[in-house]
Amino acid sequence: MIDNDVLNLREMGIHHSPVEQALMILSKAYPDMTWEQLEALSIGERDARLLAVREQTFGTTLNIFTTCPKCRQALELSLSTVNLRSPPPAEAKDSGHKFSMRIDDVKVRYRLPDSTDLEAISACMDLDQARKLLLDRCVLEIHDIEGKSHQPITKYEEIYSPDFVTALARQMAEQDPQAEVILNLKCAECENEWQALFDIASFFWTELETHAKRVLSEIYILARTYHWREQDILALTPARRKWYLEIATA
Ligand SMILES: [Zn+2]
Repeated sequence: MIDNDVLNLREMGIHHSPVEQALMILSKAYPDMTWEQLEALSIGERDARLLAVREQTFGTTLNIFTTCPKCRQALELSLSTVNLRSPPPAEAKDSGHKFSMRIDDVKVRYRLPDSTDLEAISACMDLDQARKLLLDRCVLEIHDIEGKSHQPITKYEEIYSPDFVTALARQMAEQDPQAEVILNLKCAECENEWQALFDIASFFWTELETHAKRVLSEIYILARTYHWREQDILALTPARRKWYLEIATA
């Protein structure tokens, strides 16, 4: 993405949800795909593509700032996007995101969560409600042991035992591993070790916003100094823009 794309993206996405912002990035990077196709990517597929766009835009090094939950020490770590990749297992590739599994005495057919599901559960008040809604959306069919189909599944809440939910969530995570990236962190100060989820969608959007603000202030300085138009400043190579900025601010 060039700077003009980043500025447009930030402007378009400013009042949108994080789910939509992630799709807007992909829509810019994959112009041949429709919004519906992008929405239907599993979360792992979406995040693998976001990682690729991030690599093309800002490179493979990620600088993460966090705080030790035990001693509150600020930590900065640098990691490579290459180490965050978890490709799906071979059998998940041609499945169209639809799978079945047997849990206790029911056979369940389900699909992997996608962006439409994330958007739907973002309005939920708590985790329980979100989990229930996600099941309602992603479980396609439930058959009992005699092969009798139970639909609509919302009538069969008793099937959603904690064990059922845990087993299904584990299976989904195995089939779409990129959807959940966990970082193993260690504090240099107190040696506390903990795990944190890494969400490429929000991380990348924040980076794009920071970058956009920096570009806008550069444009402001150059336009004020040389009376150039925004489009002409954006057309400069990064090296030339930097050079003119150095002179303007010397
Ligand atoms: Zn610590």
